[in-house]
Amino acid sequence: MTNHEHVEESCAEALAQVQAFLHNELPVSDADLIRAHLNACEKCLENFDVEALISRMLRRSCSSPPAPANLRVRLTALRVTYRLDDH
Ligand SMILES: [Zn+2]
Repeated sequence: MTNHEHVEESCAEALAQVQAFLHNELPVSDADLIRAHLNACEKCLENFDVEALISRMLRRSCSSPPAPANLRVRLTALRVTYRLDDH
């Protein structure tokens, strides 16, 4: 499927910029592209959540591992925030 390959290429580009997106380092136009792709691509949305969690964890502390329950709550909160923000 050539179409599938094209999609995966977009995914790679989107994910490559996710960190900058999370840190608000992207211009608004680029951030909108990432946001639009994440909104349309469930695979990337999952990856985005993971990246966001990792980013937040690294910012707070490298030494204390988060509890699984905590992770799940944060993941849900992230998704809700993201969807509300997008609409
Ligand atoms: Zn994608």
